[in-house]
Amino acid sequence: MSCPELPPTVDLLVVGSGPVGSAVARRVYDAVPHARILMADLGPRLTGQAGLHLGNLPAPERAAAQARSQGRDPETAPGEDGALVKRYADRGTHLLRPRRDDEPEQFGMPAAVMSSNIGGMGVHWACTAPRPLDSERLPFLPADDLDAALSVAEHLLSVTRDAYPATEAGDLVLKTLGQLFDGDYPVGRGVGTMPLSCTPRPGRRPLWGGPDTVLGPLAHAGATAGDGRFRIADETMCRRLLFSGRKVTGALLEHLPTGTEFAVRASAVAVCADALRTPQLLWASGIRPDALGRHLNDQPKTVSSVHVKDGPTAGLAARGTVEFGGDIRDLETGRFWVPFADPGRRNHGQVMTIDTSPLEGVDPALFVGMVWYGAKEIRAEDRIEFSTSEADAYGMPDMTVHYDLTATDLEGAEQARADQEAVAEALGGEFLERPELFPAGSSKHYQGTVRMGPADDGTSVCDTDSRVWGFDNLYVGGNGVIPTATAVNPTLYSVALAVRAAASISARLIGV
Ligand SMILES: Cc1cc2nc3c(=O)[nH]c(=O)nc-3n(C[C@H](O)[C@H](O)[C@H](O)COP(=O)(O)OP(=O)(O)OC[C@H]3O[C@@H](n4cnc5c(N)ncnc54)[C@H](O)[C@@H]3O)c2cc1C
Repeated sequence: MSCPELPPTVDLLVVGSGPVGSAVARRVYDAVPHARILMADLGPRLTGQAGLHLGNLPAPERAAAQARSQGRDPETAPGEDGALVKRYADRGTHLLRPRRDDEPEQFGMPAAVMSSNIGGMGVHWACTAPRPLDSERLPFLPADDLDAALSVAEHLLSVTRDAYPATEAGDLVLKTLGQLFDGDYPVGRGVGTMPLSCTPRPGRRPLWGGPDTVLGPLAHAGATAGDGRFRIADETMCRRLLFSGRKVTGALLEHLPTGTEFAVRASAVAVCADALRTPQLLWASGIRPDALGRHLNDQPKTVSSVHVKDGPTAGLAARGTVEFGGDIRDLETGRFWVPFADPGRRNHGQVMTIDTSPLEGVDPALFVGMVWYGAKEIRAEDRIEFSTSEADAYGMPDMTVHYDLTATDLEGAEQARADQEAVAEALGGEFLERPELFPAGSSKHYQGTVRMGPADDGTSVCDTDSRVWGFDNLYVGGNGVIPTATAVNPTLYSVALAVRAAASISARLIGV
């Protein structure tokens, strides 16, 4: 049956409304004047403006919206007491499987999470959006092509390196990082301020970017935006893709609150349902290339925080209004970048200056938070196994992750620890939290499961336009498409690859 409120036929069906699905929808909408686009997401709409970053909401509304993003199974949600928060599932996310105390931290990815809401993880993310560098980039795509797509992605996400005004504390941190690490880079490169997806606001914290930024005018209307060519169907899950030979003909959708199932016909389909659930949907549809779900990689994540007692305060008072929503990121006054380099630096570092002066009982001084992400060795055996008999909370094939760190990965994590100790010492600070390798999955940067490749040789799932091998009109999007070992936060990269996918879809719809 068809759903009376949704068109039975569209030009493009996008599954998943995170930054990547939003980028595909927006680019095709802009490029193809007649295109009718449906974007379906299994999660609820949290805000009137679709895909608004929750960091832009006041605290009580933010907490309520985060709770609505945490999926169907209470056992996988962070919970009221926040017991799982930070090392496992951040607020607004839910675990792939319930946490077991006896589970090893680095085996099987116990901290694998997802978000189930309009905007996906993109309404919860930290907005760090640097470009991939050196061996993180696609070796089989001309450099100019990737750079052009990255520039469009930066525009869509509104990326800036001027998110925060300079402070004395920030200058101290930047100088310290430069002294420690600038020697590791080729001439002309080095540490700097972090590119962030946001709009700076003098005297206030930045307005954070997300899927709404990408959607632009399409985010502002109700279910139907613009001239009625674009629709968002919330709480509408894609259960199965429908295809005949090389062509996807549409999909079977389910409106979850009512359980009503209906088919939508589509000239092209883009599945952008995160790096875990995109391969899950292909597998559930009977599309099972050898590389599907394999080459899974997460970035080993090492975290610490430092208190510099005699350091300059981090300058929050200068902001005038302090909007503390219960999230430490509300107290951030600067973010700095220790880039990946190959050769040179296997980790990518993110360093935050934090001013805790609005918090009661905390001695106001400079706090520095450090997160290092490492490039993992990629192996086909790190993979998702899809069950033929068990179902997850949404009735889709249950997923088990087979995953382990190699000796090289552990060496990288050891280097991250040493780097963070060097920063603390050079700043004259004391660790509040010593450098610690967080559980596998905690980076939330899962990649490789629907990876791109230059040839259909069994080691990739899609071509350089993100089109699934063997199909004319089925595309995949998201971090799962990235085939390289990266340490960089991957969202900008994935949005750039989605820009290329959208160009291919647009050409198909226009009939070029
Ligand atoms: C707390 C946090 C901080 C982060 N910080 C950063 C950062 O600073 N920088 C960075 O680069 N990345 C960061 N990330 C990761 C970033 O959010 C993701 O890389 C990004 O959101 C991926 O976009 P996406 O559109 O591919 O997937 P998602 O944003 O995950 O969206 C996927 C969507 O698909 C939907 N879906 C899944 N299955 C189906 C189905 N069968 N039918 C219909 N819909 C379905 C889901 O409900 C979801 O809304 C962070 C993530 C979190 C949680």
